[in-house]
Amino acid sequence: MTKSPQPQPGIMDIALYVSGESTVAGKSDVLKLSSNENPYGFSDSVRDAFVRTVGELHRYPTTDHGPLRRAIGEMHDVDPDRVICGVGSDEVLQFITTAYAGVGDEIITTEHGFSMYPILAKQAGAVPVTVAEKDRVVDVDAILAAVTDKTRIVFIANPANPTGTMVENGELIRLIENLPSDVLFVHDGAYTEYVDEFDGGKSLVDQYPNVIMTRTFSKIYGLGGLRIGWGYASRDIIDVLNRLRQPFNLSQTQMAAAEAAVRDRAFVEKCRTENAKWRDWMTNALRQMGIGCDDSYANFVLARFADADEAAAMDAALKADGIIVRRVAGYGIAEGLRITVGDESACRRVIHTIATQKGVR
Ligand SMILES: *Cc1c(COP(=O)(O)O)cnc(C)c1O
Repeated sequence: MTKSPQPQPGIMDIALYVSGESTVAGKSDVLKLSSNENPYGFSDSVRDAFVRTVGELHRYPTTDHGPLRRAIGEMHDVDPDRVICGVGSDEVLQFITTAYAGVGDEIITTEHGFSMYPILAKQAGAVPVTVAEKDRVVDVDAILAAVTDKTRIVFIANPANPTGTMVENGELIRLIENLPSDVLFVHDGAYTEYVDEFDGGKSLVDQYPNVIMTRTFSKIYGLGGLRIGWGYASRDIIDVLNRLRQPFNLSQTQMAAAEAAVRDRAFVEKCRTENAKWRDWMTNALRQMGIGCDDSYANFVLARFADADEAAAMDAALKADGIIVRRVAGYGIAEGLRITVGDESACRRVIHTIATQKGVR
């Protein structure tokens, strides 16, 4: 027997991330509502910025992301010296786990939490510890009860994916104040801009040195294809994370596009308003058919059917009509379908198919 190269222990235990499907066999007019993408695309100013960088492709980008960090600082009222940018917020989350957790350490996530957290925990050699939620909302007491002297990080997304629920700020403060001060609390704010009057965790970062918030250009800015995210924390934490960052992790094109995106407040405002309108419309339509649906604070709704069989049948009926939504059995919600809030025609199309399948119309 010849020996073959062997991966490090634990690597083969890491599940591969499953992304939203994007095609249906035999269908051309497909409506993709499986990845929480922006139905309104992205700001026109992004297109101009993107095209402008094409003459510079032979140049290395800046390593310090200065102009983008300053634009983020200006538009979000944060200190640019305490911002780090990454290849999607996923990369920032990966810097966090790699920097602050290692073999044998524990990382707390919640029952229906974002599936990247356990993947990232295992990449760092750490053990993901999953705690219960209360009616699909993060339960601070359950998190606190799970803390041990091995706990290094607590992850929550707020609003959460795939539930769409939020946890109250007072509860978050209670969580942070009761966590050991050497445990890092990560507030993943991928859906922040969909919530009215919400700072995405900024005030928590400003108040507590063991908090980091992450944000993304993939959702309301409509740039999932370009891969840009950022984090905001204390100078000390950002200094640690920058040591793991490759010097040229973001291209000039990514940075220029993101800068244009963050400066276009009107586009974000329009998307927020439209999303709220059609999200509420879809939520009500689902409820009227007797389908369970929590209030969502994000750009998707989680429809809960009677059981896994009904969810599977509904998923099949939607696919047959060329509509792709997200099954969330892997998130422990076998009876659920997560449906991205599209534009008006998309929402009407989804509800029409569901109503037809249910025999309501
Ligand atoms: C979509 C999403 C992200 C964003 O990931 P990117 O790498 O920035 O595209 C992060 N967290 C959650 C909970 C999400 O749903």
